[in-house]
Amino acid sequence: MDRELIDDFGRRVRYVRISVTDRCDFRCVYCMSEDMTFLPRAQVLTLEELATVARAFVELGVEKIRLTGGEPLVRRNIGHLVSEIGALPGLKDFAMTTNGAGLGKHAVALRDAGLQRLNISLDSLDPERFRRLTRTGDLERVLAGIRAARDAGFGRIKLNAVILKGRNDDEVMDLVDFARDEGLDISFIEEMPLGDVSDHSRAETYCSSDEVQDLIEARYPLLPTAESTLGPSRYFRMPDSETRIGFISPHSHNFCASCNRVRVTVEGRLLLCLGNEHSVDLRAVLRRHPGDLDALKEAIVNAMPLKPERHHFTTDGDVQVVRFMNMTGG
Ligand code: SAM
Ligand code: SF4
Repeated sequence: MDRELIDDFGRRVRYVRISVTDRCDFRCVYCMSEDMTFLPRAQVLTLEELATVARAFVELGVEKIRLTGGEPLVRRNIGHLVSEIGALPGLKDFAMTTNGAGLGKHAVALRDAGLQRLNISLDSLDPERFRRLTRTGDLERVLAGIRAARDAGFGRIKLNAVILKGRNDDEVMDLVDFARDEGLDISFIEEMPLGDVSDHSRAETYCSSDEVQDLIEARYPLLPTAESTLGPSRYFRMPDSETRIGFISPHSHNFCASCNRVRVTVEGRLLLCLGNEHSVDLRAVLRRHPGDLDALKEAIVNAMPLKPERHHFTTDGDVQVVRFMNMTGG
């Protein structure tokens, strides 16, 4: 490794989330609008360019890569990219976030290609409600995907649930019990003000992690742990189960001081912070200097001083960042 990625606040970047597509087979109400226009192919990084980006980061000391989107499993030949990244020396943790619908088809191939961990989004266990929240999703297919992932040998699968007041906050305990029964971890996420959603008022549906935690603790005592997956989750354990409960609380427990992450959007924009627009166009570097890993690494190192100290999300329902989560790479 030649250089490390350290920002002006002394934070070392060890974790990159790479968005491999802005497209998705779902239209979750908090993530997208119903009518989305997706990017033309020429604006999206090719699989080769994505692999080069991953290699550059790992050579700069990044230890963890998560592929996300959009829905990574709708990107054609995603398995090829997974095997390229899975073979990078120095990468310690290689994960994907998925809506789970494609896992029945892809889980075995992903595991064989070197993917180590999966986060699967699941906001409801009620088929009707699941359909309303995702607009197009089929719960049964996602549950089958979770089983397929487990059968393929993925350990410590983590569920992600965005909790919205009045929509699915009454399902917190059902989701916890499902995770306990199935031997999964689960993180509860506060909704972030990314993109202008028409479905609901975010100010009305805001549900803090502390409220979710109180609901759970009424039945299961939660013991804080120092465990970390390098991500923003704060983890707790229950005395009688292997299941870990995580909270991702951008509003109520600001995690910026320990932020070790950057994101690369599907257009190759290196985003230094989820909640700010500071970015560098890596696609321009890739296309100006094809195959030149050093030029790319230089651009990444030079971007570090742009990483802002913190995000400024509020819960008043205002849109603070205009790009949707599927563009950002959640
Ligand atoms: N399609 C994949 C999935 O749903 O897991 C990966 C991409 S998705 C954008 C990543 C995560 O971001 C999901 O867990 C999703 O629930 C979450 N997410 C999307 N929009 C969000 C928002 N506005 N606030 C908080 N979480 C959001
Ligand atoms: Fe698709 Fe994931 Fe966004 Fe839902 S949260 S619309 S599954 S990208």
